[in-house]
Amino acid sequence: MTRKNPNIVITGTPGVGKTTHAEELARNLGFTHLSINQIVKDESFHEGKDEGTGSWVVDEDKLLDHLESTSLSATGGYILDWHACDLFPERWIDLVVVLRCGSETLYDRLVKRGYGGKKLEENMDAEIMQVVLEEARAGYGEGVVVELRSEGVGDLEGNVGRVEEWVERWRGDNIKEGEGEEGG
Ligand code: ADP
Repeated sequence: MTRKNPNIVITGTPGVGKTTHAEELARNLGFTHLSINQIVKDESFHEGKDEGTGSWVVDEDKLLDHLESTSLSATGGYILDWHACDLFPERWIDLVVVLRCGSETLYDRLVKRGYGGKKLEENMDAEIMQVVLEEARAGYGEGVVVELRSEGVGDLEGNVGRVEEWVERWRGDNIKEGEGEEGG
């Protein structure tokens, strides 16, 4: 492996705090934050919206081709922020952070976001059933997946600190002395 920095997936049910975590981590680490939802929308990597759930039906081939064209696999230093994770090839990914949230907190956040009816119910169920965590565990090695709570600001700060320490350790384990020190 020649990457100078790890690639990190921040995943979880909508509303758990992916974007908040990803933005802070990217800022602190000098990494590139890729909001996959935003890319799918901006680049039209979709076939419209699913009528039932209102989510984009993603064209995964186009999305992966696009990601492949970035320096993600060559240099690392990317934070991928999405509510799914099993799409990303294992070889690209060094850490998968699955954020978790209690029902009451998540309900309030999603209602605030304007979710209601079936969409609200499906997302609440998905969190309770830990759908994203199971997907992460099925797709990546045991040491790659970490489950972190994201209820309050203290959690956010603690989680960001933990991931930053993990990045330091990754660099220590993966970069030989004399190789690149700078961010990527
Ligand atoms: P996601 O990207 O997973 O949909 P967001 O990062 O947009 O979630 O967070 C949803 C809302 O919850 C935002 O208003 C955010 O400020 C808040 N939030 C998320 N995580 C935390 C946390 N750990 N502490 C306090 N507020 C949080």
